[in-house]
Amino acid sequence: MLAVLQAFSPRHHTLTARDLAESTGIPLPSMYRYIALLRETGLLVGDERGAYHLSARLISLARAAEAAESIIEVADPVTNRPYATVAAGAPQDIDHAVTAAARAFTEGPWPRLRSRERARILTRIADGIEARAQRIAELETFDTGLPITQARGQAARAAENFRFFADLTVTLHEDAFRTSEQFGYVIRKPAGVAGLITPWNTPFMLETWKLAPALAAGCTVVLKPAEWTPLSASLLPEIMAEAGLPDGAFNLVHGIGEVAGAALVAHPRVPKISFTGETSTGRTIMAAAAPHLKGLSMELGGKSPCVIFADADLDRAIDSALFGVFSLNGERCTAGSRILAERTIYSDLVTRLATRAERIRVGDPADPNTEIGALVHPEHYARVLSYVQAGLHEGARLVAGGSRPPTQPAGNYLAATVFADVEPWMRIFREEIFGPVVCVTPFDGEADAIALANDTSYGLAAYLWTADLARAHRLAGAVEAGMTWINSHNVRDLRTPFGGVKASGLGREGGAHSLDFYTESRIVHVPLADTRVPRFGA
Ligand code: NAD
Repeated sequence: MLAVLQAFSPRHHTLTARDLAESTGIPLPSMYRYIALLRETGLLVGDERGAYHLSARLISLARAAEAAESIIEVADPVTNRPYATVAAGAPQDIDHAVTAAARAFTEGPWPRLRSRERARILTRIADGIEARAQRIAELETFDTGLPITQARGQAARAAENFRFFADLTVTLHEDAFRTSEQFGYVIRKPAGVAGLITPWNTPFMLETWKLAPALAAGCTVVLKPAEWTPLSASLLPEIMAEAGLPDGAFNLVHGIGEVAGAALVAHPRVPKISFTGETSTGRTIMAAAAPHLKGLSMELGGKSPCVIFADADLDRAIDSALFGVFSLNGERCTAGSRILAERTIYSDLVTRLATRAERIRVGDPADPNTEIGALVHPEHYARVLSYVQAGLHEGARLVAGGSRPPTQPAGNYLAATVFADVEPWMRIFREEIFGPVVCVTPFDGEADAIALANDTSYGLAAYLWTADLARAHRLAGAVEAGMTWINSHNVRDLRTPFGGVKASGLGREGGAHSLDFYTESRIVHVPLADTRVPRFGA
């Protein structure tokens, strides 16, 4: 029956019984029976010439179903009530965006602008972000549940991303290599259309962290933000246009990862994909990009250790450990979510961490006194709570939090949660929770600390606390992490390589690394002397 209805299309909107039998493969006598049934139900309408068409009711139902499928309802994490609908980009929307970006790349001025001119526009984008910083922070807080004070910091960093890459683009130079016989010089070209796929944690900052270097390199871009947090990205088109970015250089498509994101990854005119998100999604994207041999930058998950030795400045180490895991609601890729403490201070440290965690203010993200806001989405909230249950079930000792704070009867709130006596086989030690939950585990000596720090599939960040600097440097070399901080917390210098080892990622972003990713280097060889050419067949 469905096959009969599906035979109708905009091009074939009236069909005879014979046409229907031919296109569906259903024998004509059976087709007459089907047609009679469909006419009885009012789905099919016949005319005096013996041709049939779909009823207006069916067409409007189909249109409504199509429309319902092409929007995403977005809710805020405090009430979990939908506040907006966002167009869910389909593969053809991605195709339109890529076509516009490809045209802007091959025909438009952006890749050909002098670097100073490009830098001016990037600086104006930074100005535009700064002028809207308060608005961006408010939208981000509303959409993601991030505490407002921390969202303000992220908005400032977003502007800095553009300012930084504006500066860098004018200092870009191309290498030259010389021997006595040969001179080689490099031509560096923007790679083409860059596909940028970003997650819901600190969305605006992470979007700009990819947009700024891609545009600075002269690429044109298609951005696909995370479906749970589309709000702040919606300011970008206005900011870009106001700054004078040429049409088509920046394109934004909201949509579901498996539909719009996947279409961007599979699009043959997008040679580069920069992705930040979960490790499992990263695997799917790498597999989908493989047939096209695309350039990939993969910033993935983490389960980073914060190693505290007995000789460390414990006051500072505790401040840093708590900030490292509970800032940004614990929804932070570089969170130090496993605290490894030397056994001689372990018990005291657990007590101090628990006491401080109990005092962390969990509440309305818009309140400037809030330290932990609401987790982004009920699905994610349920996932984080399921890890709390797993920790309890596996026998870890809950010393702080573990449930919704009594002051917050609704919304995706979780009190700062500390598990002690966490063993390396437990899921809460091994898997990324991405919420305000930290594990504390004792160690005995340097070798044990290294073994525990490395006992994870991830390798994004590490934080080392000890007064013995020689030991700190030994550990920095031995711990498998893309980024290590010694006696300090996560402060970034945007020139430095950002990224992870093992399951935490592939490739590096930051400074020249980002520009390398978005450009292709070509070498031109020139002889400086007569070089002997072998004479085959002479
Ligand atoms: P996610 O992997 O679920 O989604 C990230 C983005 O990928 C979204 O835009 C989503 O729509 C899209 N996507 C999903 N499936 C896709 C597919 N098949 N093809 C193409 N795109 C697809 O991640 P998330 O839950 O939004 O973000 C949290 C994760 O991001 C955590 O694991 C966190 O550690 C990681 N993260 C890493 C870094 C880093 O720099 N290493 C930074 C921030 C977040």
